[in-house]
Amino acid sequence: MDEVTTDEGRQWRRSPGGLVTALHPVLAEHKGTWVGWAGGTSEEAPEPFDLEGIHIHPVPLTSLDLERYYEGMSNATIWPLYHDAVETPVFKRRWRESYRQVNARFAEAAADVAAEGATVWIQDYQLQLVPAMLRERRPDLKIGFFLHIPFPPIELFMQMPFRAEILRGLLGADLVGFQQRLAAQNFVRLARHLLGLRYEGQVIDVDGRPVKAGAFPISIDVAEMERMAADPAVQNRAKQIRAELGDPRTVILGVDRLDYTKGIELRLKAFRELLSDGKLSVPEAVMVQVATPSRERVEHYQTLRVKVEREVGRINGEFGRVGVPAVHYLHQSYSRNELAALYCAADVMMVTPLRDGMNLVAKEYVAARADTGGALVLSEFAGAATELRQSFLCNPHDPDGVKEALLRAVHVEHPEARRRMRLMQRHLRTHDVGHWARSFLNELGVPDVEVA
Ligand code: ADP
Repeated sequence: MDEVTTDEGRQWRRSPGGLVTALHPVLAEHKGTWVGWAGGTSEEAPEPFDLEGIHIHPVPLTSLDLERYYEGMSNATIWPLYHDAVETPVFKRRWRESYRQVNARFAEAAADVAAEGATVWIQDYQLQLVPAMLRERRPDLKIGFFLHIPFPPIELFMQMPFRAEILRGLLGADLVGFQQRLAAQNFVRLARHLLGLRYEGQVIDVDGRPVKAGAFPISIDVAEMERMAADPAVQNRAKQIRAELGDPRTVILGVDRLDYTKGIELRLKAFRELLSDGKLSVPEAVMVQVATPSRERVEHYQTLRVKVEREVGRINGEFGRVGVPAVHYLHQSYSRNELAALYCAADVMMVTPLRDGMNLVAKEYVAARADTGGALVLSEFAGAATELRQSFLCNPHDPDGVKEALLRAVHVEHPEARRRMRLMQRHLRTHDVGHWARSFLNELGVPDVEVA
């Protein structure tokens, strides 16, 4: 939930995004409560309140929590470690302590508000200690946990200084969900390796209590994206974007948070080398890179921004002309409609993360192309690659492979492009975010949940 200023003063409204869209109806139907960070920094959270049929229970974070728990432990330790350590994780004792305190605060809040025998679903890497903390306080609850990011192989996880505590934290749940089957396997093997626990299939025996691990690939609100992309206003905007770009033959698009896991630099480099090899040329081909501002106070992110902007400058310096840049670089946030228009305007979408739990942008692009035009270049290291098999898959660590995939996508014949898009769209329609939520909750033992 976001707090926004309107004509009537400060007000709360639902945050946009698939997770909220998927969970809101379930919570509303079951008179559920959303326990979450209140946003902002203060000692006191706003009083709990009701919004659109659900109860909201805000939890406060102070500016010190933000620095140590959120930017530190969550985003400078766990995030890089879980993403193959593509950037070196930073380990600090005071961050760890803050992570414990904040997790305890969330566990406390959930323990206070949950009814007898209720189901609690904990989301993501910032709250890995909560399942065990909550079980200790409230053994009557049914507890689910979902990790939205990758779960690393044993060798990498073992670097984590308080690794056993984190693992025990997760094992407090009845069901631990991952994006990928391999991640669930990493988890059960780790339980044996680190704590000597026995497992059969995906079920770990934790002192006689079964803890199940499983893969539940998250998705998007497919119908909403299809509707948005079909909206004449969005279609017109897409045409306008192409015109503003000089009506090039090929528009290549990247849309990512400015994050080092996303492979933005390697994608720019592939484009530069293709221009320099004469395989692509400006203005027939132009690239648009949206790099959403993200975690700007974390050092890794500041360094990345400098590197990406240097590469954009280099490409435009070498291959641009007055009024005709080769790369249009946008370090900005956009509305959902504008993003949909960008997707509709792009002939080729490049999604090249070095490691990504899922990558929803790839799914959004496919869903937006109901006109069945367009081509997706997708890294094998994005969770989405398991499902979007008809994309132009590439290994982001191999620059020649990325260049080749990009060229194939640029030159694909229209009927072949349509065939690929249709197959991927068919898959997404039956595997939307509602399907994700339903399958997790059913596995957890919440029967027949209705999810949008
Ligand atoms: P991550 O969760 O790592 O940021 P995903 O691709 O899974 O990566 O999800 C990103 C989400 O953020 C998508 O739903 C996408 O539409 C949205 N998004 C990305 N860039 C922007 C932007 N510049 N403005 C608004 N929303 C954006």
